[in-house]
Amino acid sequence: MEFRDLKAQYAILRGELDAAVLRVLSQGHYIGGPEVALLEERLAAFVGTRYCVTCANGTDALQLALMVEGVGPGDAVFVPDFTFCATAEAPSLLGATPVFVDVDRRTFCLDPAALERAVAAVSRQGELRPRAVIAVDLFGLPAPYPKIQQVCERFGLLLLEDGAQAMGGLLRGQRCGSWGSMATTSFFPAKPLGCYGDGGALFTNDPVRAELARSYAVHGKGSAKYDNVRVGINSRLDTVQAAVLLVKLAAFERFELDEAQKAADAYGEALAAIPNLELPWVPEGSTSAWAQYTVVLPLGCDRAGLQRFLKERAIPTAVYYPRPLHAQPAFAGRSICLDGCPVATELSQRVMSLPMGPYLTASDGAAVAAALREGLEELTGQRP
Ligand SMILES: *Cc1c(COP(=O)(O)O)cnc(C)c1O
Repeated sequence: MEFRDLKAQYAILRGELDAAVLRVLSQGHYIGGPEVALLEERLAAFVGTRYCVTCANGTDALQLALMVEGVGPGDAVFVPDFTFCATAEAPSLLGATPVFVDVDRRTFCLDPAALERAVAAVSRQGELRPRAVIAVDLFGLPAPYPKIQQVCERFGLLLLEDGAQAMGGLLRGQRCGSWGSMATTSFFPAKPLGCYGDGGALFTNDPVRAELARSYAVHGKGSAKYDNVRVGINSRLDTVQAAVLLVKLAAFERFELDEAQKAADAYGEALAAIPNLELPWVPEGSTSAWAQYTVVLPLGCDRAGLQRFLKERAIPTAVYYPRPLHAQPAFAGRSICLDGCPVATELSQRVMSLPMGPYLTASDGAAVAAALREGLEELTGQRP
């Protein structure tokens, strides 16, 4: 069994994917070209923004968004403590200070009340300028944007969305990738919409921000090619990856999102009766893109032992994330964490992600559920 079955996807889409890649190889455009422009148009239409600017990966997309907003030294950027490190790495690289904010126990996303406390505390201290919030749609679930927006408005903060895990997610009818002044995503192969290498994109409704992002992504170019008007980076999506994504986006919209939801529903039914196992929670009005199916194990459960038990039965699992960001050595001495983020800390000790995705078969899902139940009984001595 695969943790996320990219081989099954390739087997189904192979004819279209092979043809798309070969077309690029034979036409001779390897950077840019019609595929990239068409993909940007389709992605913007899918997400519901006016502009999409593709780039080399999701981490660059975050950095580019912060460059566009002019974030730098002296700025405090509020990020969830429970996320992939790139969310905090991008502001750090630009000399800004990440402020780690605790997450909600049930959604795993940024907790608006904790955000408000953190912004107020940094304002009171007066050393850094509270500047921006990067909310993360963790595991595919949209962050609680309406409440986060209220906090941002109260304190005059920019809101950015890190939608790397959430292409296809939906909140109150609005797609992930369309929240905040700019949103970003990643096309790393294992994300809900992935390519065959690295890729990323930014989304915005603002023509000025879109133009700036394009410039920063290509060495700070001006209107003419060798006109260098600002210090930028080199971050482009390859034509081959764009061709792959055009095929995959069509399948994503046509059936993959629905299939992932079916897999999640089946897990929900099969796992509901396991005592003390907390299943992913999707609030009313939200749809997850199901980047991960992450459960919270019973208190005191031997997680590593359970992973071994499942591995012996050929069931791969993963821990996202085993350490809250405030405890990562990379951010020591260059970040702020005011309250120790107790929820993120607890989740990092108790979460485990199960095999997931649109290609998870019903029988594999059932096998995971049965083995998980059996493993928990054996390890905790509990009988339902
Ligand atoms: C994967 C991921 C990124 C980075 O994307 P890359 O394309 O790997 O650079 C950023 N933020 C989050 C939350 C992610 O999961």
